[in-house]
Order: sequence, then C-alpha cells, then structure tokens
Amino acid sequence: MVQRVRGVVARSQGSPVELTTVLVPDPGPGEAVVAVRACGVCHTDLHYREGEISDGFPFLLGHEAAGVVESVGADVTTVAPGDHVVLNWRAVCGDCRACRRGRPQYCFATRNATRAMTLEDGTPLSPALGIGASPTGRSWPRASAPR
Ligand SMILES: [Zn+2]
Ligand SMILES: [Zn+2]
Repeated sequence: MVQRVRGVVARSQGSPVELTTVLVPDPGPGEAVVAVRACGVCHTDLHYREGEISDGFPFLLGHEAAGVVESVGADVTTVAPGDHVVLNWRAVCGDCRACRRGRPQYCFATRNATRAMTLEDGTPLSPALGIGASPTGRSWPRASAPR
C-alpha cells in the first residue's frame, strides 16, 4: 500500500526547497522500505537544487541516512523488518568481480530503486544520489538491499 510521508523537494533550479507530501510505493523485488530515523541534507543536495548535477527536477533530497527496515520485497533475504540499517548512496551488488575481491568501492553494478517515489499528482521524483532519504514521516524505499 502506498504510504504518504513528508520529504524535502527541490522543484526547480535555484528555488527554495519545500517540505511536501511524497508517496512511497511498496517495495519491489530486491527492495526494502526503511523507516528513516535520521537523515542529513548536505552540500551535495544544494548542488542538485542548483541544477549542477542533473536537470532531472523535481529532486527528493537527502542521501545520508539510517533507519529501521519496515518491509521487504520479493527475493530480499539479507535484511528483514526490524533490522537497523545505514543507507549507502552507492549500494553495491556484493556479487561482481570487484565486490568478490573485497573492493566494493569499485562495484560494477551498483543498485537504485526501480519504483519511483512521487509527488501527490504522480510526478516522479529524482532521488538524490539514488536515495532521496529526506522523507521524515515514516519510510522510503531502498532498491539496494542486497539479496
Ligand atoms: Zn552528502
Ligand atoms: Zn558489485
């Protein structure tokens, strides 16, 4: 069931960010919904707002966060509801050549959520660094829960 939360959104280049309602879909295969307990909005998010990283407005800001897994999609076996997690903006696959060599920083197959969070009118949001963790109400989806 889609959840309604509040998140920090940059709608257009240079305009003030706003705290607005965000719709969070149920987790798809390989995804988890995490109830965010803490999230930073940093200078990188400012670069998104300024249009310096991409022009994919509107952006859902926040990419440094921690929380508790709330629900998981099909095929998720390494986290379960109730697990405390830190969100990785470069979510590694755990299975490619680099990951298997113990060098996940060079992962060839990092993951992002496939089911978009949206504004109330259905406009898809571009999550900052693939995360968009600023929703403060309850939760947000994470694509990267390793299988
Ligand atoms: Zn940052
Ligand atoms: Zn990898």
